[in-house]
Amino acid sequence: MQLYNNLSAKERAELIEQAGKERLTISFYKYAKINNTEIFRNHLFLAWDQLEVLGRIYVATEGINAQLSVPAENFEAFKNHLDTISFLENVRLNIAIEHNNFAFLKLKVKVRKKIVADGLNDETFDVTNKGVHVNAKKFNELIEDPNTVLVDMRNHYESEIGHFKNAVTPDVDTFRESLDLIEEDLREHKEDKKLVMYCTGGIRCEKASAYYKHKGFKNVFQLEGGIINYVRQIEAEGLENKFLGKNFVFDERRSERISDDVIANCHQCGEPADLHTNCANEACHLLFIQCDSCKEKMENCCSTNCMEINRLPYEEQKALRKGQGNSNDIFKKGRADHLPYKKDLRNIFETLKTDKI
Ligand SMILES: [Zn+2]
Ligand SMILES: [Zn+2]
Repeated sequence: MQLYNNLSAKERAELIEQAGKERLTISFYKYAKINNTEIFRNHLFLAWDQLEVLGRIYVATEGINAQLSVPAENFEAFKNHLDTISFLENVRLNIAIEHNNFAFLKLKVKVRKKIVADGLNDETFDVTNKGVHVNAKKFNELIEDPNTVLVDMRNHYESEIGHFKNAVTPDVDTFRESLDLIEEDLREHKEDKKLVMYCTGGIRCEKASAYYKHKGFKNVFQLEGGIINYVRQIEAEGLENKFLGKNFVFDERRSERISDDVIANCHQCGEPADLHTNCANEACHLLFIQCDSCKEKMENCCSTNCMEINRLPYEEQKALRKGQGNSNDIFKKGRADHLPYKKDLRNIFETLKTDKI
């Protein structure tokens, strides 16, 4: 019985290519009590491997968080399988706006302590006492209310390329930092302001809203299903789109375009650009925004230093890296002093704060 992925990304990409099947990119999460995470994990792997599901799935005693792709022709079977698991029956599936058959190249189901690395001690507050979930229509109304403070619960590299108009976008690397920063800035307004928050698919707000209620905020709202579900609803119901730019996603696609606005800049030359890339020097791999002309000039690298290393024969590069610890983290935080146009979003946060409150 095979319980783990045994193909390389390259082999898998070739198989997907050969199969020529259209794949759907889907994400979902559910907080639920899972007692035997290892057995549950194996169960999912076996069933989903059969259905040619690929993706990154986290299972913890607090629930499941899944981002995956499935051949369109197996979607019904996949949905039926979910329905056989009591707490996943009719779970809301966020189906991506733009599909890419190569969004995921492996099936990885991992047991973790938590489904989101939120840094919270859940024992200290009631995680089930959540904020009010609102749909796109209600959300659009709420964010026009002068008494609302709209907060983007995602990290700096996500909100930089796209966010809701008038949103506060904390310049943070982690969710935990965001929670503290917002609480600190709004501590005088726990009762009189409406705290409205959103994230990619809703999972981060789910706990954040409970946390803020615990901290004394009286009016806490969250966008149901996050940005992905919002876009589906505005399309289906003909509502006004208030999201500017692109939605950052955690797979090979990197982002989905929601509106034509380009709200970010190339970190190297400052021209409007909103395409994330990883530095081609494998030892660096920095995630940053690069325009097409810089991409060409810099040979897909973030600095001249990386460019020189990247030109070396592979064996020499490997020798250089030896003992340095290979950083293969795709989403390495995009901060580097040599990128002159990386926006300091903390300043934007300050500006918005004085405007809004
Ligand atoms: Zn540029
Ligand atoms: Zn680099």
